[in-house]
Amino acid sequence: MNIFLYKIMAPWYNGAMLHKSISSLKKRRDDLLEQLHRIPNLMRGVVYEKTHKCGRKSCACASGGPRHPTRQLTVTLCGRTQTRYVRVEEMEDVERLIEAYHDLWRIIEELTEVNLDLLRGGHPREEEETR
Ligand SMILES: [Zn+2]
Repeated sequence: MNIFLYKIMAPWYNGAMLHKSISSLKKRRDDLLEQLHRIPNLMRGVVYEKTHKCGRKSCACASGGPRHPTRQLTVTLCGRTQTRYVRVEEMEDVERLIEAYHDLWRIIEELTEVNLDLLRGGHPREEEETR
């Protein structure tokens, strides 16, 4: 919408709708649904990097030297927290799965925002414009 038209419609116009016409909201919704359908395999969880002593008396870690890094995957399911070690070679896959989970939530949040705006609707005149 150009600024001149906005000034004419200003008394009725919802400020939040200024940059969000119904048609652009619908396009955004369709884009997000498209992204949603492309979400790959996923899982919830957090990977913590920790260090530990290996237990060998001859190892430098036993006498204050650098400890050994490990990665621990933690996830709570049905109120029960589950933990397991992640091997170095598994790390990339696990990170990808968790990243997809966060992508899914980002899409859900944006979709919710867009659908909320669509429910509020625009000014009736604007709907006529985009029909
Ligand atoms: Zn050690």
